[in-house]
Amino acid sequence: MKLIIIGPQGSGKGTQAKLISEKYNIPHISTGDIFRENIREQTDLGKTAQEYINRGELVPDNITNALVHSRLSTQDCFKGFILDGFPRNIEQAKALERLVNVDKVIYLELAENVAVSRISSRRVCESCGMVYSALHDDVTKGCTKCGGKLMIRDDDTPDAVRNRLALFRQQTKPLVEYYAQKNILINVNGDGSIERVFVDIIHGLS
Ligand code: AMP
Repeated sequence: MKLIIIGPQGSGKGTQAKLISEKYNIPHISTGDIFRENIREQTDLGKTAQEYINRGELVPDNITNALVHSRLSTQDCFKGFILDGFPRNIEQAKALERLVNVDKVIYLELAENVAVSRISSRRVCESCGMVYSALHDDVTKGCTKCGGKLMIRDDDTPDAVRNRLALFRQQTKPLVEYYAQKNILINVNGDGSIERVFVDIIHGLS
């Protein structure tokens, strides 16, 4: 199963990708998570990516494509994977096509005002990266998984969020039509509970 999940920031694609990865026993590959891990560890890649990410801009395609190429070349990806946050534009989609054939693309639809409200309540564990929502979770006590401190992501500031949603509209949304034409698109309403959305995704995949 070679899958992609697309959706605006706040649509819950990271959460759903993790559930899909567990159900089908395939690796969850989030380019955003890989960049954040590299920033935490202050690698060369992390230092380069950090400036773009904090401004809410995309990391240049040549850097991101090389990262995905290297990750997809590892053996755990041969039987399948779920890509989250990649591709983000048509150029990246074409680079991906040169590497593998994707089976299905899940599009999580969400109105922009709902996305903004979800992003502004997002909290992330600074140690393990686990994501919480101040709308549903008790975020006053720290990470329930590792005890780490919960932070607001550096790129969840109002300016960066506006930039990222505009980028989604301009660069990523055209991918929906692109994959619909290839007959591999599954449309899912992202404005529901985690469980409801997951059921709809599994239904779409079967
Ligand atoms: P995400 O966690 O998917 O929202 O990604 C966080 C940030 O990482 C994005 O706002 C971009 O700056 C960068 N990023 C993640 N994936 C990509 C990608 N496919 N292409 C370019 N930049 C990316």
